[in-house]
Amino acid sequence: MTARVLVTGAGRGIGAACARAFAASGARVARADLAAPAGEGPAFAFAFAFAFAFAFAFAFAFDVSDEAAVTAMADSLRASWGGLDVLVHCAGIIHEAPLLRTPVADFDRVIAVNLRGSFLVGRAAIGLMTPDAADPPRVLMIASDMAHYGRETFSPYVASKHGVLGLVRSWAKEFAPGILVNAICPGPIDTDMLGAAHMSAEWRAKELAIPLARFGQPEEVAATALFLASDGGRYFTGQAIGPNGGSVMP
Ligand code: NAP
Repeated sequence: MTARVLVTGAGRGIGAACARAFAASGARVARADLAAPAGEGPAFAFAFAFAFAFAFAFAFAFDVSDEAAVTAMADSLRASWGGLDVLVHCAGIIHEAPLLRTPVADFDRVIAVNLRGSFLVGRAAIGLMTPDAADPPRVLMIASDMAHYGRETFSPYVASKHGVLGLVRSWAKEFAPGILVNAICPGPIDTDMLGAAHMSAEWRAKELAIPLARFGQPEEVAATALFLASDGGRYFTGQAIGPNGGSVMP
């Protein structure tokens, strides 16, 4: 059976690269984003199933922190596909500010999107999966190399990504051996998130102080996701895999 894959954050950056990579591998790909993923014309309402060329079977536009919206998306996928084989959860936001200039509303928003969103989307996806020890469905959560260490002026983001690893490790145990759950922990990847709108020039320079001394490409993260979803990934669960240029060496 052709794999049924849900990719969140699929409109740009790492999520868009993952959606392209899975589609190119022959999977059916449902793409989700806050706004409608680019390339389909005007934005459309949530849960509008869109028959798109190639393997892009559906596009959804919703906020991953909105429980009702996530549930409705899952209901739509169940009705259309009958289940799900792979989740690649990429949706996320970053926030840079010194702690003493971080309003709690900014903390709440980062935690809502990155951690609550991971919980809601992961829970919905697992609910759509049929556990199978011989050919397990895969849950892939994009965390960050910052899930492994602290980073001044990014504490809400860092805390949210540590939390994602907590979800992954707990779900990996709860659903073994029928469903495999892993985190992908990228280092600095050349996307909008690393752009000037979100990170200072000072931090972009610091991000390059890693052994491979370059930003990674979204396609290099997508390759990691493809591997973890492949037959070669069957002995991985509860892991934090790092396409990170050597930024972290656990
Ligand atoms: P990006 O280019 O900024 O893309 C983020 C994606 O998430 C966008 O498609 C965005 O949708 C979507 N999104 C944001 N808030 C959302 C919400 N509330 N509900 C639904 N979708 C939402 O970032 P990226 O670099 O590809 O990051 C993808 C993931 O990788 C994130 O979880 C990020 O933390 C993680 N990561 C990135 C890096 C890096 O250096 N870039 C490193 C480590 C980890 P819209 O386009 O509609 O706004």
